[in-house]
Amino acid sequence: MTISTPPYDALAREKRARLRAERLYEQVKRELRAANDRLTEHAFALSDQIIAQREALCLARDRAESLEGVNSRYSQDLSLANERLREAVETLEDGFAVFDKEQVLILANQAYLSVFRHFPEVQPGIRYKRIAEICAFEGLIRLEDISEEDWVSKMMERWTSPTISPMQLHFSNGMSVRLVERRVANGDLVSLSNNITETLRYQSELIDAQHKAEAAADAKSAFLANMSHEIRTPMNGVIGMAELLAETDLNDEQRSYTETITSSGQALVTIINDILDYSKMDAGKMELHPDIIDLEKMIHDVLSLLTPNARAKSIELIVDYDIFLPSRLIADPGRMRQILTNLVGNAVKFTDSGYVLVRALGVGSSAHGQMVNITVEDTGIGISRDHQDHIFTEFSQVEEGACRRFEGTGLGLAITRQIVSAMGGNIWVESDLGIGSCFGISVELPLSPDAGPVGPVPLPDTIRTVLLISDQLISREITARRLQASGAKVQTATQIGAALRNISNSRLDLAIIDQDLGTEPADVVVSELRLHSASLPIVMMCSSMAEARALLDRGDLRAVLPKPLLWRDLLAVMGGPGPAKTTPAAPRPPAGQTTKADVRLRVLYAEDNKTNQLVFTKMVKDLPLDLHLADNGRLAVEAFDSLRPDMIFMDVSMPEMDGREATRLIRATDAGRDVPIIALTAHAMQDEIDRILSAGMNAMLTKPLKKSELLSALQDHAPQGLFPQAG
Ligand code: ADP
Repeated sequence: MTISTPPYDALAREKRARLRAERLYEQVKRELRAANDRLTEHAFALSDQIIAQREALCLARDRAESLEGVNSRYSQDLSLANERLREAVETLEDGFAVFDKEQVLILANQAYLSVFRHFPEVQPGIRYKRIAEICAFEGLIRLEDISEEDWVSKMMERWTSPTISPMQLHFSNGMSVRLVERRVANGDLVSLSNNITETLRYQSELIDAQHKAEAAADAKSAFLANMSHEIRTPMNGVIGMAELLAETDLNDEQRSYTETITSSGQALVTIINDILDYSKMDAGKMELHPDIIDLEKMIHDVLSLLTPNARAKSIELIVDYDIFLPSRLIADPGRMRQILTNLVGNAVKFTDSGYVLVRALGVGSSAHGQMVNITVEDTGIGISRDHQDHIFTEFSQVEEGACRRFEGTGLGLAITRQIVSAMGGNIWVESDLGIGSCFGISVELPLSPDAGPVGPVPLPDTIRTVLLISDQLISREITARRLQASGAKVQTATQIGAALRNISNSRLDLAIIDQDLGTEPADVVVSELRLHSASLPIVMMCSSMAEARALLDRGDLRAVLPKPLLWRDLLAVMGGPGPAKTTPAAPRPPAGQTTKADVRLRVLYAEDNKTNQLVFTKMVKDLPLDLHLADNGRLAVEAFDSLRPDMIFMDVSMPEMDGREATRLIRATDAGRDVPIIALTAHAMQDEIDRILSAGMNAMLTKPLKKSELLSALQDHAPQGLFPQAG
């Protein structure tokens, strides 16, 4: 049965249904929109990703493409470089090879392999040891004094050694190589063999040339030495005879001619010595022979030798030796003396009046020794600025031209500079024209082991107050300063009158007087002092012994000391430490009077040259001695046996047997052990002196012989009492 519903209901239901449908629709629409939005977002994200990836991809692709290009370029370059390297290695004239760490040859150029062209197995792949074996056992290498096995072992030791030193290989075909091997980081060994055949040839040619040059220099020196000997021998005749002639009765004109002959002859000898010495230095032959020297004494000795020249011009010679500078030092004695003689000799030569002052100053010490400055100051002609730069070079003299006043070779300072620089020192000059010059050297000298203490030496208690009379300002000040440093009270005066006024009330212990007081003669000064005090000990500083002798003989003086004053001599006469023998207090017998009146000195003179024999004979003819001549060394030895002379003068260069050999033979006998033997030589060079003294001779005289030197040698070396002492 169908129940009919009212139409309202139906509408309502339909409306509700429609409303539900509409709500559903809206909801679905919202959901769809939301889903759509999400889809859009996702799509965007995806497209971003795709874009990014595409970009990355593009980039990557681009990179890959470029890398591929680089890579192929690299590999091209690499093979090109390899090719070039191979070509370069091939063009090397030196052998080049590389071994891996298993000692297998991996690469070698033709230069390397060509040495082994008769051994086809020497190819990349061969081992280092096998190559060494081929070298040794197949006679490829010249083995000097080593067996094949040992040589191979030596090469294998190189392989294992951490540092491989270069070695030379000499091949039997005449080629020489320098093998330089290096291990690289990966263990490979790179081997480079430089062909040094030509270099060695040049080297041996150079050594040959050097030997020839040395032989030529030796020949030159020998020639110069012989020439100088040849020149000196006749000069001996000229100078010796001129000296003898001067002792005869001559009128003034004749005397002046003889003096000119003597001085010209001596100048010629000096020139020969300088040239000979310089030529030796020029040939690089200067050797230093360091020995203990007494520098203070040496300075005095050099000045003493120049005293006659200085006295002739009234130049005062002064020494100022630093009280704190040890006197015993180490240096080549001959060369040191030569430096001093050159500098002081020049100072005296170029000074007409005033003084020459030698100062030795210690200027600090180091581990090697003592720095010493020696200056030689004069009041001479001086040297202009322009000339000061040149005077140390050879043959450089300020005075030029024909009207020269001073003699000389212009070599002295050049020689001096060479010696000073060989000693590692410096030389310099300061000078003002017309005022004077000061030459200085600065050298570092080791101290002698027995250098001893330095500083002031205290005087004996008996010497408290000393009177010092001298009108030489500098030397007076120097002596006074030293006396004061040693604790004495010193009263100084320039003349006796002033001295007596000052000392009237003082108690004096000693007076030191300069012999050359300008105003008063020395004997007057001594007499006046004696009036003041009869017992006052008086010491005279003298430049002429002969003049002081009368005072000494009268017993007026305690001692006479030569000027310049050697401090230790003064100390000795005051009773302080010092060599007592330097006190010549006791008067000596006058010349010509022997102590053993009947016994005459027997002298043997060995000399082959007749002129020299004549000169010697004439020089000694008035002396109290008996002379015997021998013509050579052999005859001298025979004469020594038969005559038993007290003293021998021996020429060094003689035919048949020279003087050194003859001396050795005489020294070997009991009787000849102590006989004084004086060498006579024309070679005044240091090495000659050393050789002569080492042959057993006591002293040396250089030719041309001077009578004064001959006399001194007799006085110094004749056995005691057989020859009169100096007058
Ligand atoms: P020589 O003295 O033999 O000429 P040196 O080489 O010793 O040669 O000296 C070179 C030059 O230097 C001398 O000729 C002289 O002109 C100058 N001379 C050297 N010492 C002095 C000095 N003390 N006073 C002035 N001039 C000097």
